[in-house]
Amino acid sequence: MARREYGVLLLAITVLAAAEAWSWGSLAHRFINQNAAQHLPSALSQLAAQQTFLTNHATDADSRKSSDPSEEPKHYIDLESYADFRHLPADMSVVIAQYGWSSVESYGILPWTIVTTVDSLTVQFSRADWSKAYQSAADLGHYIGDAYQPLHCTVNYDGQLTGNGGIHWRYETSMIGQYISSLSDHPDSVRYVNDVYGLALSVALHSNTCVDSILQADNVARTASGWNGSGIAPQSYYAALWARTGRLTQEVLQDATHDLASLWYTAWVNAGMTEVAETQELSGTPSSFCLQQNYPNPFNPVTTIGYRVPGVGSLNPRPGTQNPDLDTRNPQPGTRSVKLAVYDLLGREVAVLLNELRGPGNYTAQFDASGLASGTYFYRMQITGDGYSLSETKRMMLVR
Ligand SMILES: [Zn+2]
Repeated sequence: MARREYGVLLLAITVLAAAEAWSWGSLAHRFINQNAAQHLPSALSQLAAQQTFLTNHATDADSRKSSDPSEEPKHYIDLESYADFRHLPADMSVVIAQYGWSSVESYGILPWTIVTTVDSLTVQFSRADWSKAYQSAADLGHYIGDAYQPLHCTVNYDGQLTGNGGIHWRYETSMIGQYISSLSDHPDSVRYVNDVYGLALSVALHSNTCVDSILQADNVARTASGWNGSGIAPQSYYAALWARTGRLTQEVLQDATHDLASLWYTAWVNAGMTEVAETQELSGTPSSFCLQQNYPNPFNPVTTIGYRVPGVGSLNPRPGTQNPDLDTRNPQPGTRSVKLAVYDLLGREVAVLLNELRGPGNYTAQFDASGLASGTYFYRMQITGDGYSLSETKRMMLVR
């Protein structure tokens, strides 16, 4: 409620500012949708072909606020308004029963909106209702982007409680507008998300932990630029704000892009459009990164998993980090930290098959499922180095 009134006040100050208030500037939303579409596995090439639509409709959800009053609370969550916000129930009706709808509505419903949007996307995919599906896919990118904006996940959303008034717009719209060209995006693999609500809540919780560093960056930038907080902030203010928050911003936009691609993929799988087991080869990612389907499959109780560790120079380090092979601290050039583990349907790790350094090459690992119940399991390989991480997940079936 306070948030809505503030939005009206801002509108009175400047129409331009209000048009983009309470959401990443449209540039950040476009960045997330555009880059997520670029990193889809071949199974989702149909969605990747909609990159232009997904990019151009990245802020439709914001536009709907003016005509649909139910839209506003979908874009944020004032986490601290809940006594035990780290354990907010996945079932929104439980929360409503405890706090009442008018409170829940005013605190914001962003994590649950992400779940309902994934659900909508799933059924639209399965019905082949493409125009609705592409709109939902674009909207999902918007809501994921909002969840990754720290100031969308706190009761102190505009720094109004700490003397940082106006930081919301300065950070997400004005600063991003000036520095968007400094942001880069590296290819990442998609993953199947077992627990969409768990992901959405953990994103919001992480965002919440980033709030104070943005507020402190605002304090530092004000001091550095000599700006007293009234009128338009000078360029030197934004340069100092970017110096303190640019890295964080780069990371959250990268993670938002990765999660969005993974949620699109999850909806696609849940709609029955593809098997998790299909090769998730990514455009822009070296084909030498490869986790093979286990054999035999289904199996009882032993199966073999083949995988390949990519060679020197074939992994793209994150911007600003070194290629591990050039890192003199790396004792064995070309080795990667490789983890291969098995998870049950609830995402619980049930076995670790491998967790060690490996040089480039082809390998196999054996999995003995003695003692485990029949059913579906996932196995996931993760390769990490100095500043990068790649992963692939496949599904297998244990039949007793
Ligand atoms: Zn928004």
